[in-house]
This record gives sequence, structure tokens and C-alpha cells, in this order.
Amino acid sequence: MTSAHLDRAIGALLGSAAGDALGAGYEFGPPLPDGQPVHMAGGGSFGWAPGEWTDDTSMAVPIAQVLADGGSLDDETSLDRVVAAWVGWARTAKDVGVQTRNLLSALPTPTAAAARESAAAYYAANPRGAGGNGTLMRTGPVALGYLGDGQEEALASAARAVSDLTHADPDAGDACVLWSTAVRHAVRDGVMDLDAQLVWLPAERRDRWAALIAEAEASQPADFDKNGWVVQALQGAWSAIHHGTGLVDVLERAVRGGRDTDTVAAIAGALAGAAHGAAVVPEEWREKLHGWPGLDADGLADLAVRALGRGAANLSARPGAAG
Ligand SMILES: [Mg+2]
Repeated sequence: MTSAHLDRAIGALLGSAAGDALGAGYEFGPPLPDGQPVHMAGGGSFGWAPGEWTDDTSMAVPIAQVLADGGSLDDETSLDRVVAAWVGWARTAKDVGVQTRNLLSALPTPTAAAARESAAAYYAANPRGAGGNGTLMRTGPVALGYLGDGQEEALASAARAVSDLTHADPDAGDACVLWSTAVRHAVRDGVMDLDAQLVWLPAERRDRWAALIAEAEASQPADFDKNGWVVQALQGAWSAIHHGTGLVDVLERAVRGGRDTDTVAAIAGALAGAAHGAAVVPEEWREKLHGWPGLDADGLADLAVRALGRGAANLSARPGAAG
């Protein structure tokens, strides 16, 4: 693993947290005009402190922690730990998403099996209303455990398994597979290519997602005004990335798209951060970033490094692969 790989792996977490904290004060607001300055000033309906991240990053942290402790996300014990950490967080968090809060607060036991079962029951009862963006927003760290050569398939499976813990709609799982494999590709090669990840989806769903990606590229983030839905959250984030130049511009575009600003920017930031690296996160943002469970930017960076799977050691250096 090179220092550039390391910087990009850290960028997947820091970029996402920066987008989350940047968008926090604008959540539920309307789209903003092109070029309007956006500030990491906190506020919003939950009264965030400047630089404080929200549920998006808080739910990502336990995933990274399990990887950092040597766990694997295809292991039921590790998934149990993730669910238990979420249940603990949700007891005091002020901004748990509706779908996630209902699920976590009603679990008979804080286990992965109970969570999956509850998510599946909710989807069966609400087939058109169970596709919230609450799993795509937290999927950034999943890729860190699967950076090594030949681990794409294991990553696709893990991304879906972690998504299925709270959201059984296949759209949520598909979005997490696309985004997580794109994050892996970005950390390894420094490029962002969503179309190249379609191959990790079930064959019968690839054409639909290809059309959704093309629509995102032909639109602006504000065009996706139902971005609480995982499909439009992905489209808004990809639109910001497609039209943006550099991490800061991408995150600002995501926030100016309006509505679920922190989540769309957190999603965009995981991928753009993985491609551009943590070094481009502005110092002013790094100094302010903080959130549950008592971490700051340095703590999050340290967690990202520790989350790198053993497989990252076989990450082949491919100079010149970017492009
Ligand atoms: Mg949030």
C-alpha cells in the first residue's frame, strides 16, 4: 500500500464526515442557487455545533470499528456488534432517521438476525416506502475492509449484508453495492467510475441502474428532490460528483441540491474523498469536524487506518492506473 492509497482510504471517511457536517445546517432546506457560498456552521433543525457530524457518520463509525478490531462484515458476530452499537447510539441521538429509529427501538434483542428480520417485515408491509437512504449514507467504510486484489465480490456481498440489517428494499442494497465497490476502485486507482460497478449487481437490475446513473449525469443535484429515497440520494450525489471539480466543489454542489443535504453530501464525500484523498479536506474543516462517539478528524483518520483489512497488504501498486 502506498501513501497515496492510505490518504485516499482516510479520505473515504473524512470526505463523508465533511459532507455530513457541511450539509447538517441545511437539512430539509430548499435548493440554493449555483455558486452560493455554503459554510460548515452547524445549526439547522437539530441545532448542530459547527463541524458536528450527524447520523450518517455516526452510523458509519461502528462499521469501521468492527473492521478496525479485525472483524469481517460477512461474519454474524461482527454484524451483531454493529447492530448493538447502533442501538446504543440511537438511545441518545437526536436525529435518527425515521425508518432506522422505528426499527432499532423495537428490536427484541440487539442482534443482526433480529434487525434483518424486522427490516424484512417492514419492507413486506411497505414495499414502496422502505427504500430510505439510511444505508447508502453509512456505507463508506465497508470498502476499507476489502481493498485487496480480488476482493470485489466479497465486498459486494458485505455491502449488501450491512445494508440489509436495516433496509430490505433491494434498491438500498444495490445502491450500497454500487457505491462501496466504487469507493474501493477510487481508493485503489484514484478514479470514480460508477458504470464499471454495475457488474456487481444482479444481471436483471443492471440496465435500470445504468439508466439512473445516466439520468444523474444529465441532471443537477437539485433535480433529485426526493433524495430521502435511496435511488435519488445516489443520483444527487453522483450528479454532484459528475459536475464537480475537486472534493470541496462536489460537497458544496451536493449541499446546494437541498432537502437531505447532509446525507447526499455524506454519500458524495465518501466516494469523492476516496478519489481525491484526505489531504484535500480543508484545514478549516478538519479543525471543526467532530461527533459521536467523541471523535474528531484525527480520531476518524486513525480509525480509517485501523479499519484497513489485512487484504490491503496485497493491494498491488499500479502506478499510472489513474485516468
Ligand atoms: Mg444526517
